[in-house]
Amino acid sequence: MRKQIAAANWKMNCTYQQAEKLLDEVLQSEVNLSYGSEVIFAVPFPYLIMANSEVADEPNFSVAAQNCHQKKSGAFTGEVSAEMLKSISIKYCIIGHSERREYFFETNKMLADKINTCLENEINPIFCCGEPLNIREAGKQNNHVETQLIESLSHLSPQQMENIVIAYEPIWAIGTGKTATTEQAQEMHAFIRSVLRKKYSSELAEVITILYGGSVKATNANELFACADVDGGLVGGASLNAKEFIEIMKALK
Ligand code: PEP
Repeated sequence: MRKQIAAANWKMNCTYQQAEKLLDEVLQSEVNLSYGSEVIFAVPFPYLIMANSEVADEPNFSVAAQNCHQKKSGAFTGEVSAEMLKSISIKYCIIGHSERREYFFETNKMLADKINTCLENEINPIFCCGEPLNIREAGKQNNHVETQLIESLSHLSPQQMENIVIAYEPIWAIGTGKTATTEQAQEMHAFIRSVLRKKYSSELAEVITILYGGSVKATNANELFACADVDGGLVGGASLNAKEFIEIMKALK
């Protein structure tokens, strides 16, 4: 059974006090997570240490950074390196979120470098891919996602690849309230697995966790997560509401 994950992407939201309250509310919910399931909080940089200490005694909970710089260190004012994240024991880092690609001009090549620096520092990347609306409307979403996967991940060895979590996030569904249908999600997740099968092996394609992201809510998480190739979700807006996110956690297989 693949690892099932509910990952909360808080983006640039919450004061420190709000962040502490939200974490406490979710952690106190004591949801019975099935064996091998994991809940990940991708919190803003200033809250990483606090969040990591909050989950320290919780085996099913982890913390992620939302981004890191591709270089090891140096004169990059305002940036954070994977080595810094490692030094505070951060387990995951989101790489290539569509907002980073769009607003900060992150390219597939740059993301390949970010993936490398994460792996060198024993941080598991949550690699985001997904097509914009015009590509979906033109029926070219598979080509688009395959190019993202090939250009950012295909240089990895099978052993390195096993440390990657993939998040399929159709851009037209992010923060729009418009969710992909279960058919659209399942179809793309199966396609992503077929790309991994072709490049690596059936065994590897079967063990990679692939999350769906794009307006996941308490009301649609059950049907999305029930899809055979959907292994949980990357959740933006709904993760800022403890009650809502707790329901999403309960929907994990
Ligand atoms: C996201 O930002 O990764 C996301 C999926 O956002 P939302 O759930 O708000 O669509």
